[in-house]
Amino acid sequence: MFKKILIANRGEIALRILRACKELGIATVAVHSTADADAMHVRLAEESVCIGPPSARESYLNIPSLLAACEITGADAVHPGYGFLAENARFAEILADHNIHFIGPKAEHIRIMGDKIEAKKTAQALGIPVVPGSDGGITADDEAYRVAAEIGFPVLVKAAAGGGGRGMKVALTREDLSHALSAARTEALAAFGDDSVYLEKYLATPRHIEVQVLGDGRGHAIHLGERDCSLQRRHQKVWEEAPSPVISPEQRAEIGETCAKAMRDLKYLGVGTIEFLYENSRFYFIEMNTRIQVEHPVTEMVTGIDLINEQIRVAAGEPLTLQQSDIVMEGHAIECRVNAEHPATFRPSPGKITHYHVPGGLGIRVDSNAYQGYVIPPTYDSLVGKLIVHGKTRDECLRRLRRALDEFVVDGIDTTLPLFRTLVRTRDIAEGRYDIHWLEHFLSEGEGKGKVG
Ligand code: ADP
Repeated sequence: MFKKILIANRGEIALRILRACKELGIATVAVHSTADADAMHVRLAEESVCIGPPSARESYLNIPSLLAACEITGADAVHPGYGFLAENARFAEILADHNIHFIGPKAEHIRIMGDKIEAKKTAQALGIPVVPGSDGGITADDEAYRVAAEIGFPVLVKAAAGGGGRGMKVALTREDLSHALSAARTEALAAFGDDSVYLEKYLATPRHIEVQVLGDGRGHAIHLGERDCSLQRRHQKVWEEAPSPVISPEQRAEIGETCAKAMRDLKYLGVGTIEFLYENSRFYFIEMNTRIQVEHPVTEMVTGIDLINEQIRVAAGEPLTLQQSDIVMEGHAIECRVNAEHPATFRPSPGKITHYHVPGGLGIRVDSNAYQGYVIPPTYDSLVGKLIVHGKTRDECLRRLRRALDEFVVDGIDTTLPLFRTLVRTRDIAEGRYDIHWLEHFLSEGEGKGKVG
């Protein structure tokens, strides 16, 4: 097992990783920018190293600084968390060159899944269902017309190097296609320096459903069921639940086994998430994330498995002792991402938390690095913390979530708590009837308009 782990991240995930390390008896090194000197995980870690100024490029993304911090402290492994360098294959390779373990998958798997066209080809070859579309990139327009005629309109033009929903254009009809192609190419070139695009069938009202996988890198892999992350705003997840309200145990077992088998064939190491769009009872692969996800706690709450503990142990070369039959999903869990943002305009609201009180009681978990007096810096993402609630049934979970949201106090800054207090009392949510467009519609035209905040 590792002796000392350097946590190359900040915020709630740095604290979450630190907690897992403490329980495993592994010493921790916190690294921080000058803006994060007062962070909770910095206080709780055995050692800490300042790695640069506030700008992420000069601190959390600064590979030479991180290597120096490993050297100074003698850390033998690095946990990258999510974001920053978590899906940077080069970083994993550089660490390996310095005899430091990267707590994540093999660099080749990070690289494949980081390229959207490569990822889709690999998924298809592994037997995972994908969205119908072009076989790889589209270079000539007449090829795009041929593929679109085959799969039928509407189609989506997507950037090969895409991320964050950029370089994506819908063509509803044949007349729109040429414009969609050129607009997607221009946006992709500006955002990623690469204008390669590919074509996919556009799904009109899908849900976002993702499968959690865990592998030991030697051909043993399991799945831990799905999460439903359909409630999104601008492609950012807002509310996640496990299990999905629309997936039957048979469907779960089937898609889960498809994913687990793919990971066995790939000899995948560590935790990963295979993301799907789900429409008319069918799954369509969109991407695989080769890291721990923000929403991993809902899976932990229903399975009782500590995913970061498992991730660290397999990275250290320990065998995965869990078998598929050990994974039993009990009850229902929901996560709300509480952001430092105005609940109606979503304008970021960094600043000092003057009063802070977290809810408690059975089935309540708050993963947050905030505390009374903590100042949220304006430099990074606006996540204040995650409220995760578990109940024996979805209905109990919703009732508990209503109560917990009413107890949660974060004063001094704006937060999205009032949005969640509205959502948890909304009929479609209570009935589990929502797709990936529901929230945007609710906020701009539906009952939520002008009501929240
Ligand atoms: P990115 O890497 O830019 O986030 P993804 O492929 O993960 O791109 O897609 C982001 C979002 O775009 C999805 O969550 C979904 O909302 C939408 N999307 C992607 N592909 C399709 C599709 N074929 N049909 C409809 N919506 C899609």
